[in-house]
Amino acid sequence: MPGRILIIDSVATNRIVMKVKMSAAQFRVNTCANRTEADAHILKHRPDLILISFGDPALDLESYCSALKSNPDTQNITIIAMGVTDTSQARFAALDAGADDVMPRPVNDALLLARIRSLLRVHSTHQELQLREGTSSALGFEEATTPFETAANVALLSATQQPDGALLAALTHGLGHVVRAMDPDQALRTRKAQPSHALYVIDASTHMTAPARFFGLVSDLRARPDTRQSTQLIIVPDDAPDMAAMFLDLGADDVVMVSASGDEIVLRARKLIKRKRLHDRLRDTVRDGLQAAVTDPLTGLFNRRYVDPHLARMAQHAQISGDAMAVMMVDIDHFKSINDTYGHAAGDKVLKQLAKRLKDNIRAVDMAARVGGEEFLVALPGTTAPQAQTTANRLLALINSTPFDIGEAYPPLPVTISVGVAISRDKQAKDARADTICAQADAALYAAKSAGRDQVAMAS
Ligand code: GH3
Ligand code: MG
Ligand code: MG
Repeated sequence: MPGRILIIDSVATNRIVMKVKMSAAQFRVNTCANRTEADAHILKHRPDLILISFGDPALDLESYCSALKSNPDTQNITIIAMGVTDTSQARFAALDAGADDVMPRPVNDALLLARIRSLLRVHSTHQELQLREGTSSALGFEEATTPFETAANVALLSATQQPDGALLAALTHGLGHVVRAMDPDQALRTRKAQPSHALYVIDASTHMTAPARFFGLVSDLRARPDTRQSTQLIIVPDDAPDMAAMFLDLGADDVVMVSASGDEIVLRARKLIKRKRLHDRLRDTVRDGLQAAVTDPLTGLFNRRYVDPHLARMAQHAQISGDAMAVMMVDIDHFKSINDTYGHAAGDKVLKQLAKRLKDNIRAVDMAARVGGEEFLVALPGTTAPQAQTTANRLLALINSTPFDIGEAYPPLPVTISVGVAISRDKQAKDARADTICAQADAALYAAKSAGRDQVAMAS
């Protein structure tokens, strides 16, 4: 996950304290004291997230925040406004200026870190979707036209039978979408015919109810195929920062304190719906425009036509961010003899199941492709050599530990693979060229084959 954070604060002690905290949490941190310094840094290094201190009138950071969000080059950088006066008006103003969240001082560290992790997760999904969309337009596919926006479905979930009437009214009037109150069990019982929800607003603010029920609800909604793309806004009690942090770490998109104004809740809800629609649209562009042309009909994986431009963009991205990326070449061992012994149809069955095992066991940001008859490529952005090696060994074990179904005529067939792994090293810009990494991964694969197959080899 990307984790380059820029701290902008005119007070030196604030910068130092915050830098220590962020570095301890393994983020890469830089600091700037003023707008000019920050401009130069952002232009050169494109941080993933900025912590801006709004408390300093000399910096006029509220207008700075709006400026960042209205510039296409910087609008995707996540912004947390620090030190905002803890009044609903001040919080609203900062959010309205484009801040993704606000944190009053004194800052609760657990909540701040959970918030940063949550925002960075969204940031990296967003970047990946944009990267994919860029790849599809580079291939000459048209951008999906912006569809006419119909009303979104929003569900308000609360523990009590009776939802908070004021909240329901504020959401209904403020959002202009369809807002329905339902109990949590009902939300989890969604059937195919039911419309999907763009947003779940979960009222977990009642002190008396056990939060465990809501923790389970948040992760259940996040895990289920029909609700996982929905966004979640959790309303938490005022004095429970640890609970708020827990919700974020479980996959909630946003948390807001129960004392927040109706306007703030509506503003946060509106942002989530907007983001969900943008991400849906980005996904659809890729899905509709690309699927037939750039996927392999047998396995459903991307094909070579997709891989080349996507890898080139991924490498370019790695160059700019300084993140390492990994490429794995995977080749089935003695595949020809499977065809020869059990027939071509059995070979096809193996290819299909193997592709599925690969795809189901990598992260959403990774890309798996079939690049030859029985040869696969897996690209892993933001991945270091030890991480890539661990992943490769895991995939190897996933293949060789469970034999493959090749039809009723034969018992399940053990299959092994050989894997070659290459890494683009951070900062060594020239290393990040896509064709170079692929050639290195190919050479490593050859080494794995020569060394006896059923193993992983790392490029030297
Ligand atoms: P090694 O361990 O060295 O990789 O040996 P191998 O037999 O796997 O490699 P080789 O390149 O000699 O054979 C690959 C075979 O894959 C030959 C080809 O007929 C078969 N093949 C290629 N595409 C398909 C396909 O779509 N379906 C099936 N069933 N077989 C395929
Ligand atoms: Mg082979
Ligand atoms: Mg081969």
